[in-house]
Amino acid sequence: MANTHKIPPALSRVTGHASRLPLITPDKFHDECAVFGIYGHKEASNLTYLGLYALQHRGQEATGIVSGDGNHFYVEKGMGLVADIYTKSVLKRLPGHMAIGHNRYSTAGGSDFKNVQPLIVNFAFGNLALAHNGNLINATVLRHELEAYGAIFQSTSDSEVIIHLIAHSRADTLLARVIDALNQVRGAFSVVLLTDDGVIAARDSYGFRPLCLGRLRDSWLVASETCAFDLLGADYVREIEPGELIVLDEKGMTSYKPFPPTRPAMCVFEYVYFARPDSRIFGANAVYATRKALGRQLAQEAWVEADVVIPVPDSGVPAALGYAEGSGIPFENGLIRNHYVGRTFIEPEQSIRHFGVKIKLNAVPEVLSGKRVVVVDDSLVRGTTSRKIVKMIRHAGAKEVHMRISSPPIISPCFYGIDTPTKRELIASSHTIQEIRKYITADSLAYLSLDGMLKAAPGVPQQYCTACFTERYPISFTRAEELQLGLFDPSH
Ligand code: AMP
Repeated sequence: MANTHKIPPALSRVTGHASRLPLITPDKFHDECAVFGIYGHKEASNLTYLGLYALQHRGQEATGIVSGDGNHFYVEKGMGLVADIYTKSVLKRLPGHMAIGHNRYSTAGGSDFKNVQPLIVNFAFGNLALAHNGNLINATVLRHELEAYGAIFQSTSDSEVIIHLIAHSRADTLLARVIDALNQVRGAFSVVLLTDDGVIAARDSYGFRPLCLGRLRDSWLVASETCAFDLLGADYVREIEPGELIVLDEKGMTSYKPFPPTRPAMCVFEYVYFARPDSRIFGANAVYATRKALGRQLAQEAWVEADVVIPVPDSGVPAALGYAEGSGIPFENGLIRNHYVGRTFIEPEQSIRHFGVKIKLNAVPEVLSGKRVVVVDDSLVRGTTSRKIVKMIRHAGAKEVHMRISSPPIISPCFYGIDTPTKRELIASSHTIQEIRKYITADSLAYLSLDGMLKAAPGVPQQYCTACFTERYPISFTRAEELQLGLFDPSH
């Protein structure tokens, strides 16, 4: 059927085909990231480097630091890991008492140097740099509106929209412009900005992504996770609240609540997989303890007679320990990980990913041979990793292989900053558990229930976003956004 609803004019101009989906693919906007900021330290960039080092798990594709001394900005960016990009001489080129930094996750679409953050501009209000974690669901719609007014974008990153909105704002202070801009974007932002006067950090009212406030003697810090503070010997002060904006400058720390309040929707998947287990996020809750609780709950819900419980390392370890504790079945390391290989999702091609599992993991026959094995992983996305793992365990001599997943089936993509594939590629969106079991060749497969997951997570269930498990998105989409995100195909 032909398209019957109105496509925004700017959009059809870009695609050149009013009746087709936009050429911009949803993959482009999947930016999982780490952010860091510091004000009031003579070694601001060195500390930012260390903070980014601790936050490497949140993004391995690219990294950048911008420092400032009140007059000038200094910038160093590169594609690759923190340890590879920042040498002593690079860090020497980043003077100043304040800095922000960013690690960017690998994505299927946009591996482009232009997208490496922090993004920097010089405009009527001086220098400005921005580091963003999260996804904005109305970024493309806003971008086309801004372009219609003559804005020239330098990158394909959704985050650049925030910069343009700041520049276009009519408010008369930089802070008011930042607030004005952030009030226009919809979606997830844990954002850190560097100005000539200080650091601004803000978190959307849903609180999708974490953002923490720290203190190191006289300096203030912000970071995606507390593990960054631990490395620096800084104190964790508190979480930056959903809907809060803070300014770090010579006056110290000033807090504002400039965004309309709403029910929080913090990402439960941060607990399941994404955050580092030694971090505390979402109101000082320990990720490790939560992951273990998920495993204990899973043992209650999906017990099976077996000889040994093994994790898929590293992310499955706490849940497997919890499962072993809850089930009374001994825990062993049956799979050994090569720590010099990144997370499997780094490789964008399916074919490489298949290979990647073998590079990354190897089975220990002494643990597995002749045994009934429970293997615990935190999540099952496409199913390709699990399939390889089950085969590997069987090959090492296991008699039975029972796969246990410490989260519910993932049925819908994330639009708020976790890199999930399209719905079609999510195996649980179109297959029953029995079909998935068959595909991964396990003797049995069980997932944690949604209620079980929310019971194990700290606080009240209503404070979490569970959209990837339920398809219940906390922010409703406009038709234009549905189009942009590939949720609505006008040709059907
Ligand atoms: P799959 O082969 O797609 O089923 O991959 C599942 C594995 O990917 C699990 O071991 C998870 O720990 C891991 N995983 C889950 N979500 C993500 C993500 N967003 N990025 C990278 N790895 C992930």
